[in-house]
Amino acid sequence: MKYISTRGHAGQPTNPEFCDILLGGLAPDGGLYLPESYPCVTRAELDAWRTLPYAELAFEILSKFITDIPAADLRAICAKTYTAEVYCHARAGDRAADITPVHWLEPGRLGLLELSNGPTLAFKDMAMQLLGNLFEYVLAKRGESINILGATSGDTGSAAEYAMRGKQGVRVFMLSPHGKMSAFQRAQMYSLQDENIFNIAVTGMFDDAQDIVKAVSNDHAFKAGHKIGAVNSINWARVAAQVVYYFKGYFAATSSNDQEVAFCVPSGNFGNICAGHIARQMGLPVAKLLLATNENDVLDEFFRTGVYRPRKAAETHVTSSPSMDISKASNFERFVFDLVGRDPQKVAALWAEVDAGRAFDLSASAEFARIAEFGFLSGASSHADRLATIRKVFEQYGVMIDTHTADGVKVAWELAGAVPAGVPLLVLETALPVKFSETIVEALGREPERPADLAGIEALPQRVEVMAPDVDAIKRVITERVRG
Ligand SMILES: *Cc1c(COP(=O)(O)O)cnc(C)c1O
Repeated sequence: MKYISTRGHAGQPTNPEFCDILLGGLAPDGGLYLPESYPCVTRAELDAWRTLPYAELAFEILSKFITDIPAADLRAICAKTYTAEVYCHARAGDRAADITPVHWLEPGRLGLLELSNGPTLAFKDMAMQLLGNLFEYVLAKRGESINILGATSGDTGSAAEYAMRGKQGVRVFMLSPHGKMSAFQRAQMYSLQDENIFNIAVTGMFDDAQDIVKAVSNDHAFKAGHKIGAVNSINWARVAAQVVYYFKGYFAATSSNDQEVAFCVPSGNFGNICAGHIARQMGLPVAKLLLATNENDVLDEFFRTGVYRPRKAAETHVTSSPSMDISKASNFERFVFDLVGRDPQKVAALWAEVDAGRAFDLSASAEFARIAEFGFLSGASSHADRLATIRKVFEQYGVMIDTHTADGVKVAWELAGAVPAGVPLLVLETALPVKFSETIVEALGREPERPADLAGIEALPQRVEVMAPDVDAIKRVITERVRG
């Protein structure tokens, strides 16, 4: 499988394969990598896959995208990644073996696809754990190493650290805003004692941390000299890994491959639902993809109107579903590439507008007139909606959901009428409520349950350096730690 850039120039090598693009970010032309065509899944394959355990299903699907790792090695990587021991937080009985079990609210009609059973209790573990094992494998083969530099306000940084801890050839430098994360989030990250994980708490806001990462990455000599890399949400391997659970959810929600399913996805950077779009393009029988945003509704606006208007930082709301607080959806370019008939010139022209801080408007275009063919519908929710949804789900079904999943359930209820009768609707559960306990207490007047193995993590010793938001000082720390 060869990869192309959404803007036409995939760089060197001319036709990169999976391992060539695994460790990088954007294509050299500023575009995003995609397979040159989506592999089609045959009916015979769907029939053969229906009963496969998660790791084997992952191998079957990923081997369509990854043709430059020997099958036996890829199978071993999948088997090592998707184990009941890693995804052990499934909340009842022995469902952990399913990795992403479906929790029905209305049997056969409305369910939660649980994606938050991994080590950091959020769906980013689903892809990041695979990335950790792929990085280690490819770096060892090439005799290389990488120093991952990132900034986090919570979910992504902890998922990256838990995926990369103890991995040969990988170091992680993760900047977080000092004193701005919850005690639980701090404990999750800072209690890691692995020698290849470096937590740096920056005395400033998340944006200060983010600016430092940008400044270091823009210093090309430093970046090359120190083998600086990233694991951001545009990484193709993360999207590919996420395709798997759409298939798994489909098989769990249906009893035959003649049936269809619908998904509702709490969205921020469009990474999760992009994987759903790709699963559908591959031939998975998906009737609808419902996209849910919070008050930061840049994507909802596009799917309703055809206008994509990235917001300014000052227009970005700080909400109680913070992992969806985005002003610009980094993976959205992948969908638009497909929407405009995979024409890289059109994408480059549209993103020239976006990169100049402007909007683009497809409302009158022939392409947008065909948007229904892609199955998308969208909706948005507010803080009051989240509280009401968390309450209603708890009262009606005795299930506690987190704030992001609540955005999904709210929109699923609102748009359920557009899903064909008899088609099960799965809302993707993107985090466990314990990660956002303040809002749960506000909604329900009680603390969410915490998985037993995370009891008291706030009391564990923490490993973190507090530093001023000073680019040169942080470069010095990286240099010292890399030298060892
Ligand atoms: C990252 C995240 C999202 C948004 O996912 P995207 O892939 O960015 O659309 C939603 N919910 C939670 C809990 C997350 O961590």
